[in-house]
Amino acid sequence: MSDCIFCKIINKEIPSEIVYEDELIMAFNDIEAKAPVHILIIPKKHISSLNKMEDEDGELISHIFKIISEIVKEKGIKESGYRVVNNCGENGGQTVDHLHFHVLGGRNLTWPPG
Ligand code: AMP
Ligand code: ZN
Repeated sequence: MSDCIFCKIINKEIPSEIVYEDELIMAFNDIEAKAPVHILIIPKKHISSLNKMEDEDGELISHIFKIISEIVKEKGIKESGYRVVNNCGENGGQTVDHLHFHVLGGRNLTWPPG
């Protein structure tokens, strides 16, 4: 999608601090970090939200979670704890219409979210 900011990050048209990349997914630091560790994990395929996932995307999502488990280990937050968040739609607080999972950690995260 030519007007999608995360597709532009994938295509390196917009710079980002890349944490992980392979042929299917990319992880990079959130530009407005809400915690000492705040990483976004996205599929390279443009999927606009969790609502638009199809059956064929199942393996992609399991791959994302496998890499999340590696990233939290590498970032040193696996044992202290962390949160994986997907904001979906208007009430969910989604602001970028390209599926992404937030990984937050490095501090005590409160619950419930606002
Ligand atoms: P959400 O509100 O769940 O849709 O999350 C979108 C996230 O993308 C926010 O946390 C933003 O700070 C983040 N974001 C927006 N633009 C960029 C960018 N160019 N590089 C890194 N993160 C970004
Ligand atoms: Zn996109």
